[in-house]
Amino acid sequence: MYNDKYFMNLAIEEAKKAQDIGEVPIGAVIVLDGKVISSGFNLRERDQRSIAHAEILAIDKACKVLGTWRLEEAILYVTLEPCPMCAGAIVLSRVKRVVYGAADPKGGCAGTLMNLLQDQRFNHQVDITKGVEEEACGRLLSEFFKEIRQRKKKK
Ligand SMILES: [Zn+2]
Repeated sequence: MYNDKYFMNLAIEEAKKAQDIGEVPIGAVIVLDGKVISSGFNLRERDQRSIAHAEILAIDKACKVLGTWRLEEAILYVTLEPCPMCAGAIVLSRVKRVVYGAADPKGGCAGTLMNLLQDQRFNHQVDITKGVEEEACGRLLSEFFKEIRQRKKKK
């Protein structure tokens, strides 16, 4: 049986695809019955779309693959804690569990700034597993931003 680490590493591979084209490296995969049904990576700059986050793209694909907006048995793996928009989409698509790598002190809505995924006032709550491959996920981001700062300095 594959475990959370295995699938998080697939999400990390997605994040690297974002990095390769100069996007902030964030990746996601959605798993159902032990199989990856969709994946996505951040495309905000390339597409100039504020909503082109890894999770949104993966959720959209999963709905198309399954032919339903209900992702009730699905598990979403993402390298960075979901933002308010993605946490909202996760609740609305009734994802069963979210597994994330690095916490996001500037936007995380799965427990850091707020916990939108488990607010009892909504009609759906999501199980959360945090900190899976946290170091690798965080390192991708910190190295990406470090490189950008160095490039700016050279100019
Ligand atoms: Zn997001």
